Amino acid sequence: MRIVDVRQRVIGLDEPIANSYISFRNMTASVVAVVSDAVRNGKRVVGYGFNSNGRYAQAGLLAERFIPRLLAASPAALLDETGQNLDPERVWDILMTDEKPGGHGERSVAVGVLDMAIWDLVAKLEEKPLHRLLAERNGDGVVDERVFVYAAGGYYAAGKSAATLREELASYLDEGYTTVKLKIAGAPLKEDLARVEAVIDLVGSADRVAVDANGRLDESQALAYGEALAPYGLRWYEEAGDPLDFHLQAVLAERYEGPLATGENLFSRQDARNLLRYGGLRSDRDVLQFDPALAYGLTEYLRILGVVREHGFSTRNCIPHGGHQFALAIASGLRLGGNESYPGVFQPFGGFADSTPVIDGYVAPCESPGIGIEEKRSLRAVFEELAG
Ligand code: MG
Repeated sequence: MRIVDVRQRVIGLDEPIANSYISFRNMTASVVAVVSDAVRNGKRVVGYGFNSNGRYAQAGLLAERFIPRLLAASPAALLDETGQNLDPERVWDILMTDEKPGGHGERSVAVGVLDMAIWDLVAKLEEKPLHRLLAERNGDGVVDERVFVYAAGGYYAAGKSAATLREELASYLDEGYTTVKLKIAGAPLKEDLARVEAVIDLVGSADRVAVDANGRLDESQALAYGEALAPYGLRWYEEAGDPLDFHLQAVLAERYEGPLATGENLFSRQDARNLLRYGGLRSDRDVLQFDPALAYGLTEYLRILGVVREHGFSTRNCIPHGGHQFALAIASGLRLGGNESYPGVFQPFGGFADSTPVIDGYVAPCESPGIGIEEKRSLRAVFEELAG
């Protein structure tokens, strides 16, 4: 078994929406196809990967460093003990050759895209869905047949009123979601509170409503929001301050009793460890949102889960950012607390297999080999074109 080609492309997302920090107008994503010489059911086996939204495509890093390293490696050096399949950890080590530690900027996205494609390929060669392969290899042998998902929306957009926001989130409830999230910190506090109240009124219960400040607030603002939000009893209050300001996070955790969530902009086990060491998070309620597609892939996410356990948290504390099928498979196979979902936005990457609708706030991963990208028609079209 050897890798014969790696192809990549940049896809524009062009969403007319914004959070408190960025607009998604010019957002892009990388897609890669890792082509093997193996054949299953008369077809060449190809692994697919993409980066989840929020970080841009990494065409340059992929073209200049990571794809050449993968293609230059001796085929045997990439294989597991059986010699029949790839060893994702060995592949990861080769990708990271001559990379200094620290500064986990956007190279973690480039490596994450390739690592996703490698895991997709590994599971396809085993002819197993990724979630079942993971449960066997890295979990307790049992998958969660259904995974909790919540609808992340409630973005800011030009001309969007509280009524339009309500309509948007009502459509998610109609689609089968029970828990929703909206953006805050992109409007004055008073206006945001009116938006939050409109959504609580719609959903019927504040513990099924989460809010996300996207790292916009300084310490005093984060505390002011916390004080104003506390009486509602929200599902969680996400990324109040800068993702790397662990002191702010710890101060907030001392003052805000309800669940806090963060981690989507931490891209390594070292950063995850710093958050858990210094961020004051509480294992009985807080939510860890590390995104395996952005943070050096599943190979690194397995190490992050090790750090999570070392600090007294459980995999159930983890609800990854990203709203993609990769994290869904991981959430099922490693029995995480759930997965994000972006109904209708960040297409074709957001959302799950066409055959697995959301029912009562849960979704089942699909049972085809690999991640199941082929089971989402719009996404399959992107990759089939790439793979040729
Ligand atoms: Mg977020």
